[in-house]
Amino acid sequence: MKITVNFDYIILGAGIAGLHIGALLSQHGKVVVLEKTNEIGGRAKVVEKNGFKLDFGAHPIRFGPKSDLGESIEEIGKPIEFIKPGKIWAFLDDGTKTIYPSGGIMAAIKSKLVPFFKTLKLVLKIKKMTEQEFIDLYDISLEEWFNKENITPKIQKFLTMTSATLQVNPFIERSSAGETLQDIRKTLDIGSVYYPRGGWSEIFSRFSDKIKENGEIRLKSEVSEIIIKDGKAIGVKIGDEIINGEKIISTIPVQQLFTILDEKLCDNDFIKKCKNLRPTAGVSIDFCLSKPISDIDGGIMLESPLGFGFIPSNISPEVAPEGKSLMTFFTITNVEDIKDKNKSNEIYQHLRSTILRFFPEIENNLDFERPLFHEMIDGVEVNTEQHRLKRLGNKIEGISNLFITGDSVGGEGAGGDVGHTSVRNCYEKIVRR
Ligand SMILES: Cc1cc2nc3c(=O)[nH]c(=O)nc-3n(C[C@H](O)[C@H](O)[C@H](O)COP(=O)(O)OP(=O)(O)OC[C@H]3O[C@@H](n4cnc5c(N)ncnc54)[C@H](O)[C@@H]3O)c2cc1C
Repeated sequence: MKITVNFDYIILGAGIAGLHIGALLSQHGKVVVLEKTNEIGGRAKVVEKNGFKLDFGAHPIRFGPKSDLGESIEEIGKPIEFIKPGKIWAFLDDGTKTIYPSGGIMAAIKSKLVPFFKTLKLVLKIKKMTEQEFIDLYDISLEEWFNKENITPKIQKFLTMTSATLQVNPFIERSSAGETLQDIRKTLDIGSVYYPRGGWSEIFSRFSDKIKENGEIRLKSEVSEIIIKDGKAIGVKIGDEIINGEKIISTIPVQQLFTILDEKLCDNDFIKKCKNLRPTAGVSIDFCLSKPISDIDGGIMLESPLGFGFIPSNISPEVAPEGKSLMTFFTITNVEDIKDKNKSNEIYQHLRSTILRFFPEIENNLDFERPLFHEMIDGVEVNTEQHRLKRLGNKIEGISNLFITGDSVGGEGAGGDVGHTSVRNCYEKIVRR
């Protein structure tokens, strides 16, 4: 057995969370990031094909420079440009499109999706809500809240579409009202989504470069065990090699934690929470086109199936070859449905036919397309059972020097935000114990 010592921080997983925390910790000690596959990026990996830079499904960044991810990029001193997309358009089942009422009074006035005065009243109500009022609604589903507050069908539709995109949760019977309203409030206060110039590979290269200044990233390095001695994490096993380190940080989704950590070391409640954590799931389609067929430079919301899309090359032309165009869409499903071949194919066909109904020119200008079926989009679905106050923290009781982070642990907001916030919380705990 070969033994390697000398790392201050051993990080498991080179997805965005592993690279993010690796870059931050490399400012405080020597880092090694261990990744089981032969590429970095995990569920946000970028694939280059025929000159197109394909993110892993639609991947805008909520709150951009003002997000926790933005704060870290600033902190490591390797800035990127966050581009603010244009207006969001809603494509409705009746075949029409309308401005989606996000980001200001004008959009609400112009949108036919919602009645203006009722929307204004709702916005003012959300603006005035206190932290405690949001918390009081964390355990309440959107559906219950709609009934309790007598929300009109049009506003319900608007809030359901918002829950689908902002919270990645179209299931109003379990989407948390408090979390959704709090996220809407954050959007009202600091703005909506951004896109990194050049796509997600720019973020990965900034973090990777930072790590390499004081450490390394090892690919094809699957950790088979986290070694615990006398209640303290001391190293990890990879094949016939042991790597020792001062602190070990796992970013693999907690649903998979017990493939590398002995269950007997953890209490039942923790084990149950890890294994039963419900992720979000869905289908995405990228269309790589020989020429642009739409000048939309903002978001594209679909009413049915509830989904979201945008045209990355209209925001950052670098992601497609000159004169060509990249369009990307996704819809959210139950995780059970995506595992069922017939059901997931039905969902895919529904998404594809809806997109082609609104953008028929795709078919005649298609270089190639990439459908993807995702059993895990976000590590945690934000719902009444899994809201921010009910999730796991970055530490495991009874085991010192071991930390867990990534988009299935703690955090705030939804989707990738959970991961970015979780990483920053974990980082604070490690460096300022
Ligand atoms: C289609 C799609 C669209 C999305 N859209 C958005 C969006 O618009 N905005 C947003 O913010 N977020 C979005 N997300 C979510 C975002 O991509 C995830 O939150 C994020 O990628 C999760 O990163 P992570 O590092 O926490 O986990 P992962 O990406 O899962 O990384 C974990 C890594 O650990 C590695 N690993 C696992 N086991 C081991 C082992 N034993 N040893 C070593 N390595 C191991 C894995 O190979 C992987 O690379 C989207 C996700 C998808 C799939």
